[in-house]
Amino acid sequence: MHSGHTMYSVHRRQFLQALSAVAAGLAPFHSAWALDDSVKRVLDGAPAAGSAAPASHPGARPAAKIYSVVVDAGHGGVDPGCIGRTGTYEKDVVLDTALKLARGLEATKRYKVSMSRSTDDFVSLEDRVIRARAIGADLFVSVHADALPQRSERGASVFTLSEKASDKEAAMVAQRENDSDRVAGVKYTADPEVNEILFDLARRQTNNLSLQLAQQLVIELGRDVRLLNHTHRSAAFVVLKAPDIPSALVETGCLSNAEEERDLRNPHYRQVVAGALLRSVNDYFDLVAKGAAGA
Ligand code: ZN
Repeated sequence: MHSGHTMYSVHRRQFLQALSAVAAGLAPFHSAWALDDSVKRVLDGAPAAGSAAPASHPGARPAAKIYSVVVDAGHGGVDPGCIGRTGTYEKDVVLDTALKLARGLEATKRYKVSMSRSTDDFVSLEDRVIRARAIGADLFVSVHADALPQRSERGASVFTLSEKASDKEAAMVAQRENDSDRVAGVKYTADPEVNEILFDLARRQTNNLSLQLAQQLVIELGRDVRLLNHTHRSAAFVVLKAPDIPSALVETGCLSNAEEERDLRNPHYRQVVAGALLRSVNDYFDLVAKGAAGA
């Protein structure tokens, strides 16, 4: 589209000017990133989000914002994820947990909830991120279950994005989760249009929010289920790489541990996990509304 190209350069220049102001200390970072939605979209190379911004009604009392939340059930279809000792598939237990979470979120009427998958289908990691960005998601929560080399190890853990893994095992977990696309023969390619520097700057803001989310997840999960000793870790998960959507990945337990595999097979246990995830999302948005989260 010819006119699209023109828009691209204009907006891009505008955005870079705003960034220069930030760099010179003349403006807060957020002002550059929040320039306007169309700039963000152009930068994204993503299509216009249909219902991203609710129309404002002058004079009316501001209604509580309906946040868009993506619940991402890991794996699916040809990709079973990790497999428990008695044959439990990660893709099955995480789908049910994710569905329970999505229902809980919907019931609050605070959120517009989307799922990366709601059936036993394969969705590539890249598509999960692309779809979340296309709908202008405010939050992305990825639900997984873990398998650790030590069968005695158990507990839930929470991951946020970092190119440098927090520990060797975290790197291995990321490697395994990222292998999803290889299982189905899909090659993950980064969007070549996107300028890496801009990505990094956007990430700063998003990272702060992701850390807030992770903190709430650890607190709320810790009330109801066992946590891994090393509870909050970071690694380079493809699925957490949207530069503008606060995201976290939850390993809801270890299928490699016999007891925990039994727990994860239990729908009541999964409801408890989903309840903790729901409270975390609520707490997170309470913080955002208060302006306590973020930069
Ligand atoms: Zn997984």
